[in-house]
Amino acid sequence: MKSLVKDKPAPGLAFLDQPVPQIKPDEVLIKINKTGICGTDIHIYAWDEWAASTVPTPMIIGHEYAGEIVEIGSNVHHLSVGQRVSGEGHVIGHKSRASRGGRFHLDPDTKGIGVNMPGAFAQYLALPAFNAIPLPDAIDDEIGAILDPLGNAVHTALSFDLVGEDVLITGAGPIGIMAGAVARHVGARHVVITDVNPVRLQLAAQVADVVPVDVAREDLRSVMDRLGLKEGFDVGLEMSGSAAAFEQMIDSLVMGGKIAMLGIPPQKMPVDWTRIVFRMLTIKGIYGREMFETWHKMLAMLESGLDVRKVITHRLPVSDYLQGFETMQNGNSGKIVLDWRG
Ligand code: NAD
Ligand code: ZN
Repeated sequence: MKSLVKDKPAPGLAFLDQPVPQIKPDEVLIKINKTGICGTDIHIYAWDEWAASTVPTPMIIGHEYAGEIVEIGSNVHHLSVGQRVSGEGHVIGHKSRASRGGRFHLDPDTKGIGVNMPGAFAQYLALPAFNAIPLPDAIDDEIGAILDPLGNAVHTALSFDLVGEDVLITGAGPIGIMAGAVARHVGARHVVITDVNPVRLQLAAQVADVVPVDVAREDLRSVMDRLGLKEGFDVGLEMSGSAAAFEQMIDSLVMGGKIAMLGIPPQKMPVDWTRIVFRMLTIKGIYGREMFETWHKMLAMLESGLDVRKVITHRLPVSDYLQGFETMQNGNSGKIVLDWRG
């Protein structure tokens, strides 16, 4: 089968022919139709410090996908051949207290497909049946291929009650933009999204009813004044990983405001804790999805009018993967979906 492989510990990727995986009794074999390129894949492609210390080689990368079940293991009874699926990309252990208590997303033994076990950038993927998520007819394969990052956005946005609240999102990458759409869908009042990249801010305004602010050129305070946000935003969703953005967020929240942090700072980030203490802010770290609860809410919202399709800006055959990775790396795209069929 065709597959995109990190074949050696160096920048780049190889497009290789690999054997189709053999499934275990509790797994399903998925024929991949479409995949999304994630920021994580770009880190692995570029082979930065994080990738070099995390990803063993050779490794088939990729964890955002939609496809069709073509084979089921002998222990699998709740899925069938022919079903369209996406799937949770974190494969949990079953030993920890958190896992046995049903808090799957907190299991410390979790492995990531396409990071430390074979991934989805291939014509076939062997996946634990537990992780497979059947797709409703209303959700086509290209939306199926971006459910993983939409799940990050949903997990972050639903961390705090947003009904009637004013929300600041820092970072208009694909996840920040989708979080803006989710915040509006669940009833936030004003949703302001900041970035320093005008292309991304323009895309944000096309995808969702949000107020884009280029903080390199505009003063966030004056935007808040215009919107009547005298005391500040109630909730902040940090989706940039930028220290400057985090500092601006702390400055812009109400007393007792809440922050959900998804963005990953590239290095240790200095934080003014005194302001956090005296402003009595709550900060919650977010990793991945709250597994199947997030998947449920996400599919339910997509079936009840949440529309994030415009965040997909590029659709390419997998043979053009290099163009996809380069475009994603230069930051002037939304989601890029690769087609594995044919
Ligand atoms: P991305 O890199 O595409 O987007 C980040 C955006 O932040 C960019 O558009 C960038 O221009 C913008 N930015 C930079 N400086 C800024 C500033 N001062 N103010 C406002 N915006 C600024 O990332 P993404 O794929 O949308 O993911 C969002 C973040 O979440 C990244 O940091 C990513 O590493 C992280 N992430 C975390 C998890 C998790 O499980 N915690 C999962 C996926 C992604
Ligand atoms: Zn991803």
